[in-house]
Order: sequence, then structure tokens, then C-alpha cells
Amino acid sequence: MPWRKKWLDPAEHEGAEPEFGKVLEKRAYEVWVSEVMLQQTRVSTVIPYFNTWISKWPTVEALAEASHDDVLAVWKGLGYYSRATRLHDGAKAVLATTDDVPCKIPSAVDALQKIPGIGRYTAGAVSSIAFGEAEPVLDGNVARVLSRQLGLYVDAKDKKSTDVLWDVAGSLVKSVAGYPEQGRSPVPGQWNQALMELGSTICTPRPKCEECPIQRTCRVYAEGQILSTKKAAVTTDVPDIEDACTLCLQLDTEDLATAPEDAGDDDENDAAPKPAKKRKTEQKPPANTISNYFTSRTAPNPKPKPDPATPTLSTEAAPPATESSNKRKTPPATPAQAKAIATYCSLFPKKMPKKAVPEEDAFPQQTLLPADQLTTEVRKATACAHVESLGLGSLDVGEVRELGSLVHVFTHLKLTMHVVHVGLEGAAEGGIGEGKTARKWVEEGDMGGATLSTGMRRCWELVAGT
Ligand code: SF4
Repeated sequence: MPWRKKWLDPAEHEGAEPEFGKVLEKRAYEVWVSEVMLQQTRVSTVIPYFNTWISKWPTVEALAEASHDDVLAVWKGLGYYSRATRLHDGAKAVLATTDDVPCKIPSAVDALQKIPGIGRYTAGAVSSIAFGEAEPVLDGNVARVLSRQLGLYVDAKDKKSTDVLWDVAGSLVKSVAGYPEQGRSPVPGQWNQALMELGSTICTPRPKCEECPIQRTCRVYAEGQILSTKKAAVTTDVPDIEDACTLCLQLDTEDLATAPEDAGDDDENDAAPKPAKKRKTEQKPPANTISNYFTSRTAPNPKPKPDPATPTLSTEAAPPATESSNKRKTPPATPAQAKAIATYCSLFPKKMPKKAVPEEDAFPQQTLLPADQLTTEVRKATACAHVESLGLGSLDVGEVRELGSLVHVFTHLKLTMHVVHVGLEGAAEGGIGEGKTARKWVEEGDMGGATLSTGMRRCWELVAGT
């Protein structure tokens, strides 16, 4: 990955200001660009875009001075164009800062989050990876790893759970980095990237627990192991997190034993459970909670269970897979056990049913009446009114034809786009309007190279095909 680089240690560059400040700024800019591009996009897709972007705009200053059209053109094909706009706006805000410092991108997460388009996650990534600050990151992958390590059966997107997971991620990174005694170092960035990578390669929705380097500290793995070997005792004197925890939802272990083996095969962390799954989550008397399967002797971790309000997940680094470390690992599971354990682990964190997305009918930039009130005449009249509102001067509306409708599904919206061809009579000259809302005339043959969202490109294909 071209954005993965050796950490720049300020101690090795003492007295080299302002040159080092500019190098550090470039490094922070590269991390920022990569993190924005990686949102909702695969690494293999991002790599060529990242290389093109950085060769065209190698510094935050260069990006700030770029035209918005150029920025959108380079982003073309990566999707979610608002990310490009926010990145561009953020670069302009950084350049506008009056601070007289060589590195205009701040290292503190609070200051980073004041830059347009930088949220808590991106701020944590830039601060830890580029500047070596002991700041956490929490994306879907990290949330999955942590909820399994802690045995938290929660909706990882719920605010209460997210707050706990951010606290845990913060405690961990500060602990491994030796904060506050130790200053900046490569450890926070390496730790955060390792957690993210573990979640994307091993602790996936359907985890590969037998390859996991932190299996030994994993609460859910230990629970799954006991359930799978059926060495459970029916009584316990060890308090279980589910008995004391006000955060976890109840998970009925009788039903867990029969959970289908494809549970968690979904690519997405937020996939909804399949209807056939025999998993009960309603609040019930604690007749058959996981604690029933643990005794003092069988409990995998004799330490007190973590209180979610003050997370205490061990930060003891898992040793490399040497002979001595292997001795401390639990015995390897049989293939059948491994499958059962992975099935159990894949239930964490709790998958919530997806909410139904709202539906809308639209022309470009204009939402229409509800579908049941839309007739062909209404659509044609609305299209003509929209064209006339563009202020086309001496051009007159000619033939108007309805070409059809296209459905485009976003994560938050199901959009039905109606395509109407409006013929214009007269000579078209110049652009229309100014600024971000400006429009321009494009020759039909040049439309292939124009910057269009995926939805608009599908609409154009319908026009071009007539
Ligand atoms: S042991 Fe399995 S569930 Fe636990 S962290 Fe590792 S891969 Fe994830």
C-alpha cells in the first residue's frame, strides 16, 4: 500500500525545521487522502487512484489550489463524490490557516476535527499514523475485534456501545504506547493499523480464529470453545458479564448451539440476520445465560470480568508465533470444533435488522411528488419547468419525450430517476451560472469523459441509446 511508510521520528530531525515540518505535513496529507479514499472502497481499488492523486497534487497546498472540476475528474469512478469535495474543502481550510508553522496540518485530534470533512476516525488515523500520538481509531473492523475480545453482545453502531468501544480503543492505544510517560512514537500508528488489518483479514464477519494472534485473550473464542466441547457445567460461581452488564443484550445459549454455520458470512459488518436464524434476543429471565456454562474450574479467564464502564481489556501484546508462545495457546480445535467456534464468534457484535430505506422519485436535483401522484403529464411539465428555471436565455423548449425511469439504490435512499428528453431550439452559448452550481454545455461526443455520478451516467446512457 503506497500510503504505508516508515514513521518520521522528530527526534531524528532536530534542528531541521522548517524542512522537517513540510515533510511531516506531506506525510499527514497522504494519510488523510488514503483514509478518505478507503471509506467504503476496497484497498485494491484505491491504490491506483491514490497514486494518481498524489502525483497530481503532492502536497495539501497543491490540492487547495486545484480547480473543483479537476478534483472531481480525478475522483471519477471512485464513487461518493462528496468525499472529493470535502477533501478539497479541507485542503483549502488548511491553507487558509494563519498559523505561522511549517506543518499546517495539526497533530491533535481536536484541531484535526475542525477541518471540514475530518471526523473522529480520520482525525485518530492522521494523529496516530503520521504524528505518532496515542490516539485511537474505531471503524467497523476495529469495533468487531473489540466486541469479540470483550464478549460484548451489542449493536456496535449504537451510541452507548460506540462510546464504550471508543473508550476501550483509547485505553488500549495509550497503554501500548506507554502514554503519558512516553512521547510520540511509531507504536500508536502501528497498533491502530494492526487492529484494522486484523479485523479486515482474520477477525472478519466469519472469523478465522485458528489463525488469530490474539485468540488467547478473546472472550468470545473462549465461550465458543466451551460450548463446542460441551464441557459445560450447569452451575457457576463465576459472575458472567451478561449477568452484570447493562450494555449487552441477552443471547440464549440453547439457540446458539443450533445457530446456522453461515451466520456471519455476510461481507458487510452491518448485514441483517437471516429470518431462519433461531436466535432469541428478547429480554428473558436469566435461565440459560452463558454464565451457566462456566465454573471456577472451566472459566477460561479467572480474572474479574471487565466492567463496560471502565474497560480493562488486557493490552498484553500477543507474542509472535514462536515455540514458546505456542505452548501458551489453547490446544488446537478439531475441524468440527473450529467451525462451531467460528459460528459462535460470528454472532458478535449483534447484527441489527436493516432499516427500510425511504423511496423518492426525482429529476436531477429535484425531488418529485410521491409516485402515486406522478403522471406522464406531471413529469413532462416538471421537466420543462426545471429546464426553464436554468435561465437559458433565448432558447425555447421544443419537443419533450419521456425516455423511461431508472432505480438507483443508495445506502440511505432508493431513488427512482425519471429521464425526460427536452429539445431546445436556438443557439446555445457559454456556461450557465457561476460557482459550484454552474453548468456548462458539453458536446454529445465528449460526454464519455465528463464527470458524472453513477446515477447520472446511467441516465445519460438512456438518452444516448435513443
Ligand atoms: S479469536 Fe476469533 S473472534 Fe477472537 S479476535 Fe481472534 S479471530 Fe476474532
